Amino acid sequence: MYNAKAYSAVSETLPLSPTTIPRREPTEHDVQIEVLFCGICHSDLHSARNEWSEFSPTVYPLVPGHEIVGRVTNVGSAVTKFEIGDLAAVGCMVDSDRTCKECKAGFEQFCPNNTLTYNSPDTHLGGVTYGGYSESLVVDENFVLRVPSNLDPAAAAPLLCAGITTYSPLRHWGAGKGKKVGVVGIGGLGHVGVKLAHALGAHVVAFTTSPDKEDDAFRLGADEVVVSRNANEMQKHAGSFDFILDTVSATHDINSYLALLARDGTVTLVGAPPKPLEVAAFALIGGRHSLAGSSIGGIAETQEMLDFCGEHNITADVEVIPIQKVNEAYERLLKSDVKYRFSIDMASLRAE
Ligand code: NAP
Ligand code: ZN
Repeated sequence: MYNAKAYSAVSETLPLSPTTIPRREPTEHDVQIEVLFCGICHSDLHSARNEWSEFSPTVYPLVPGHEIVGRVTNVGSAVTKFEIGDLAAVGCMVDSDRTCKECKAGFEQFCPNNTLTYNSPDTHLGGVTYGGYSESLVVDENFVLRVPSNLDPAAAAPLLCAGITTYSPLRHWGAGKGKKVGVVGIGGLGHVGVKLAHALGAHVVAFTTSPDKEDDAFRLGADEVVVSRNANEMQKHAGSFDFILDTVSATHDINSYLALLARDGTVTLVGAPPKPLEVAAFALIGGRHSLAGSSIGGIAETQEMLDFCGEHNITADVEVIPIQKVNEAYERLLKSDVKYRFSIDMASLRAE
């Protein structure tokens, strides 16, 4: 074991603060990674404040961070995929049982025994896993991803969660040429979702509650932008969507989006508001509509997404911050005041 500097939340009300955490020495299949950049996902904030206490209670201290890009500094004796000096990335999972039907089908995110990057039982050291708001981490090579060399590491980091969480449902529900696709919420997930849906060839409509994001939404690749608080603008799209991806982090009205679906259309939730949402039966019955959900994506699909982003030159729009500004960043995230993802420059932690 060795010690690494990190930032942790020690309770649901106190700000994140500097700490030291244990990391394992790399075992034979492990890759040790010096963290260069780590994105700030809204899930980090939900977890730090224990907002998902009913589904996944937070164990303190919590070291968040699951959008990690770093440099390989050491490899175990049996590692074949990475060498010292390689750029490497880690997303929301660091392990799974690899034997269940979900793992065999490439759906490690649905493995009942998977290990999430933070706040999950740590099978090596006991306690819980600690995420990417740290100097370094040690991960089995099968859960380490490759970042295309043309992508900027700071802006590529958010792809590890925001990228795969939007790519996977867009692919699953067939977003592409000839399809009308909506993306609700132009935040970290949503702005990457707009870029990906555009690159996949769909006709993309961005829905936002923030009128000042309109110009950006067009620049990101939207063909149309709807300010969702304007009922007239919403009404113009009634009954027309094949697929709508909802990335909203807070309680909101999903019935108004179900009403925009064409026959057999689907609204898929990736946003995870802590409280249940109300669904009107008539919003589903009318056009044989579906309401669905989706969780990140499997490891192979995550690599596929990164390669797709490499080919299409897609990264997140990031505001790079030092770790010392993480609490301020959380407050701004709550106000939808980030364009469009914070990426922490971990050199600021090493310098502390
Ligand atoms: P984010 O950057 O905060 O973006 C959320 C966006 O939702 C905001 O920018 C805002 O967009 C909109 N919004 C916020 N409050 C709203 C409200 N009260 N009513 C309507 N719209 C509102 O968050 P994120 O990092 O993209 O994460 C979004 C959600 O996805 C979080 O709940 C997160 O935990 C979840 N998540 C799920 C998965 C998964 O696997 N399913 C993975 C990662 C994250 P506008 O300003 O454009 O309206
Ligand atoms: Zn995330």
